Amino acid sequence: MREEIIYLLKLKDSPDRKALFDLANAVRRDNMGETIFIKGIIEFSNYCKRDCTYCGIRASCKVKRYRMEPDEIVEAAIDAAKHGIDTVILQSGEDPFYTTDIMIDIIKRIKIGAKKPISLSIGERTPEEFKLFKEAGASKCLLKQETVNPRIFKAVHGSDYEIRISLLKTLVSLGYIAGGGDIIGLPDQTPGDIADDIIFMRDNGIKMVGIGPFIPTKNTPLENHPVGSADMTLNAYACTRLAIPNVLMPTTTALGTIDEGLQYKGFEAGCNVIMVNFTPDKYRQVYRIYDNKRKVEFYETVHELLKRGKKLSFSVMKALKEEEMV
Ligand code: SAM
Repeated sequence: MREEIIYLLKLKDSPDRKALFDLANAVRRDNMGETIFIKGIIEFSNYCKRDCTYCGIRASCKVKRYRMEPDEIVEAAIDAAKHGIDTVILQSGEDPFYTTDIMIDIIKRIKIGAKKPISLSIGERTPEEFKLFKEAGASKCLLKQETVNPRIFKAVHGSDYEIRISLLKTLVSLGYIAGGGDIIGLPDQTPGDIADDIIFMRDNGIKMVGIGPFIPTKNTPLENHPVGSADMTLNAYACTRLAIPNVLMPTTTALGTIDEGLQYKGFEAGCNVIMVNFTPDKYRQVYRIYDNKRKVEFYETVHELLKRGKKLSFSVMKALKEEEMV
């Protein structure tokens, strides 16, 4: 299996690659239908206690920092819900300012006010906290392993590899729709490492996968490291769809940052999700996890998807009709 995935990951534009994408697409259609799900992301804090070498909001980066007030976060979530989005994603650096109680309060208020599935992407917390967040109303949680190669993980992420992996497994056992994923193009990473990521996620009950190319970012230790391969990212989407047929898999903003068209190409390789940004403008400029991060706007995205003949969820279509946008 590993050798076959490595072969597929390395494919360049060719009839074999077209066959891989066609198969991934058919598997996506058979298992998840035609709908492209739109998730609304709110980047509520760029404070981070971690020092991941790839990331523009790492603790030692001298960037302007912000924290949204709980009221502002809830308001942004309710605004996103009014647009009919399929899930509200709360994302931040790893910021202990938002204590367990503050997070529980935010989740509960969004659950009541927005009436949408809530997904967390807030880095590592204790298993007890994740249990409480689930009880408060969060149903999905993204904690990308970034790489299952422990040596590379340690070099780029700095935190404890065993803890990260065991937390991801905890999320599955707590009943979350748990999200993993990796960065394509980390230093010393091989196609074998990426194949291992896919096999790991398949074997551990991961049902959401975020895979993006590495984007070099100024004033980080990896600022001169080359951008990750878009071709390999797309191939990884297709392989992941074959390995986990019912996966929720976004075509990522990082891929769209290399080239906007590439993000839409993700849908040809088995993706069925796109994330649009509902972070208030004044904060969004400062949430620079990597340079030139693409602004993925709701209306622009919907327009592009409909232009390409994609099917959107009932709730997005209903909201658009109410606004007389379709
Ligand atoms: N702090 C949380 C965590 O680490 O899980 C969530 C926020 S973190 C900024 C979101 C994701 O951004 C990470 O999982 C990582 O894969 C991605 N990311 C950060 N810097 C990146 C870069 N330079 N290129 C590509 N992806 C990057």
